Amino acid sequence: MNIAVTKPPMSERLAAFVRREHKLLINGKWVAPQSGARFDVFNPADGRQIAQAAEAGAPEVDAAVRAARDAFETGAWARMTPVDRGKAVWRLADLIEQHADELAEIEALDCGKPVSYARQFDLTFSVELLRYMAGWSTKIMGSAIPTSLPGNWHCYTMREPVGVCGQIVPWNFPIMMAVWKLAPALAAGCTVVLKPAEQTPLGALRLGELIQEAGIPDGVVNILTGDGRVGAALVEHKGVDKIAFTGSTEVGRLIMRNAAPDLKKVSLELGGKSPAMVFPDADLDLTAAGIANGIFFNSGQCCTASSRIFAHRKIFDKLMDGLAREAEKAQIGPGLLPDTTLGPLISDEQFQKVNGYLESGVSEGAELVTGGERWGNEGYFVKPTVFANTTDSMRIMREEIFGPVVCATPFDDEDLDQLAAMANDTEYGLGASVWTRDIGTAHQLARKIKAGTVWINSHLPNDVALPFGGYKQSGFGREMGYEAIELYTQVKTVAANL
Ligand code: NAD
Repeated sequence: MNIAVTKPPMSERLAAFVRREHKLLINGKWVAPQSGARFDVFNPADGRQIAQAAEAGAPEVDAAVRAARDAFETGAWARMTPVDRGKAVWRLADLIEQHADELAEIEALDCGKPVSYARQFDLTFSVELLRYMAGWSTKIMGSAIPTSLPGNWHCYTMREPVGVCGQIVPWNFPIMMAVWKLAPALAAGCTVVLKPAEQTPLGALRLGELIQEAGIPDGVVNILTGDGRVGAALVEHKGVDKIAFTGSTEVGRLIMRNAAPDLKKVSLELGGKSPAMVFPDADLDLTAAGIANGIFFNSGQCCTASSRIFAHRKIFDKLMDGLAREAEKAQIGPGLLPDTTLGPLISDEQFQKVNGYLESGVSEGAELVTGGERWGNEGYFVKPTVFANTTDSMRIMREEIFGPVVCATPFDDEDLDQLAAMANDTEYGLGASVWTRDIGTAHQLARKIKAGTVWINSHLPNDVALPFGGYKQSGFGREMGYEAIELYTQVKTVAANL
């Protein structure tokens, strides 16, 4: 449809930031890459170039890893008490909170997401997570362990930071994904080389300045912008102890393979194709709104998006009507417009990919309930789309679309094993939801689902205290909660013969 996309004005502050010469953060200094290489950054709301960022090369990867190593082994960070480390992480939370409006504008421009959502969700969550993890910095401990060794022994464990971490993040929640990685690593006493996604480098660069302002010592967090080659160089660098990655399953596989020669520790948060199972007794208004939020939030660019619905035939049509109504409520537009609730997809590549799935859904015989086309005369907008009567062999049911597109399949038999088999018929296992008023059904099905998170009468909400991560090819390792601290620490046993 040829609606002219409104051009939101850019604040002076945002315009000034975007215009800057963006550099790399290495050992507390902002430096240009030796090669002088730069890459273009685009506004997904109109496809136009908005900035250039520095493309790190091998010398910068090496310098950043060395800086992180020095900071870990001998710098001020290595000598800092847990209380002071926690305070530094907390100060970063305060600074993000103080600058949340500015950071939300950067995210809205760079990644396309609604500015109000960036403010309310991405940045609020980032602040809460940093504060939660700051609290853990003083509570990372081992235990004294009685043994049966002959003689007189004192044996105990201690939990130590894993060391230098390469953290590679995607473009769907640029600042929040960086914070998901940084917060537990810093609380645990690790040092970091962070690699933001090439589509969205700007938020991490502003975050880097706040990290400096928070008094986190030089070299503790280094930030290298650039494409997948920078990530690959980090994975292969001998000086890196652990790689933490969020992104595609395909790159996750490559990372495991390339980390294998040094047996680096790896944690992976990958794709998903999360089912939502709806029973006839569900509260349908709540269900339609919850599943719509699960799939349309962030334009469907969420790894736990509720992208496959299995709904009982008795309520199937009613649920489809409810979803269509929710889809049609979306206020589509550039993220910087205050009323926008659904922004563009991140890039032309993602736009082409999602359009390919829309065509494939129609050609494979799915029933198009609403959407199914682009929105606007420019930018990468796609209307929220509902496909009904999908079957498990269709590409749109099997592959991660990463766009605002949901597939729905009716079921007749409420046999929980059969339902679980349908829900589990995917290589992924990140999230799932069960919608029913019957608490027994909900919990029994939750046990049968192979996924890292199962929601009941909800889909999507995360909390800083709840472990988050995948089963099967959705990855391994848990973010948030104490499990995230475990990811960035290792256990040493000390056995003393007294
Ligand atoms: P990607 O996996 O290629 O990129 C994610 C990050 O990995 C980026 O920072 C990228 O530069 C880096 N990277 C790329 N190649 C690398 C390599 N060989 N070694 C180390 N790092 C490397 O994701 P994408 O191409 O931007 O998106 C493709 C698909 O991935 C999407 O369509 C979506 O299905 C999925 N995705 C999932 C998530 C998630 O949260 N799980 C996030 C973004 C994308």
